[in-house]
Amino acid sequence: MNYYSKLLVFVLVIQSCAITKGSENTNVVEAVKMQQAVLDDDLFYKIIKEMDYENSIDWSNGRLDYVNPEELSNYSNNGSWLIDQYKTVGVYNIDEVFLWSKWNPFSSTTAVTNKCIKSTKLNKHNLDRTKYSILNTLIHERVHSFCVIHPSQQSKGQECDPSYIVGDLAQMLALYRDGKDLSAFENELCDGLRSKLLKYNILTK
Ligand SMILES: [Zn+2]
Repeated sequence: MNYYSKLLVFVLVIQSCAITKGSENTNVVEAVKMQQAVLDDDLFYKIIKEMDYENSIDWSNGRLDYVNPEELSNYSNNGSWLIDQYKTVGVYNIDEVFLWSKWNPFSSTTAVTNKCIKSTKLNKHNLDRTKYSILNTLIHERVHSFCVIHPSQQSKGQECDPSYIVGDLAQMLALYRDGKDLSAFENELCDGLRSKLLKYNILTK
């Protein structure tokens, strides 16, 4: 490879890794706005509380290792702490959402959020999806901004992880409120979440 070809490859790689603003994608802008309706939805909190009370949220395997234990000890359970984070710290504003391209365009990674960092990066290769699905990612990633982690990067088998539960719950509530067909929901649901959605008639079967 001559000098100019090498330079071209270098420039292309750098460009594809470049981080840009979330505001440049209309679906991302929509999804960021939709987060507020989740925060205003009593069912969002009620379902988290009930699931936590029934021990259907998996907080094990070091998921809370980076959360300040003193802070956590002020709450009777982890679910109440999480709810309080959404109520006090809140969700992402558009300036905290960035876009970047993962080096592997075939990766299923939707986003990366460093634990305890108040911004997130969505993978540009995985933005060809609905605003509801992007909303799911934002609500999920926010849990990592609150310092909660999960042991594996695969959603499969982690459906009852707190971040997956709140993301899926937010997406289901948004679809339901907009009168959309919930059977088109593409993720496996945590059993505990499925029973709550049935209980509150958000899912019918
Ligand atoms: Zn995650």
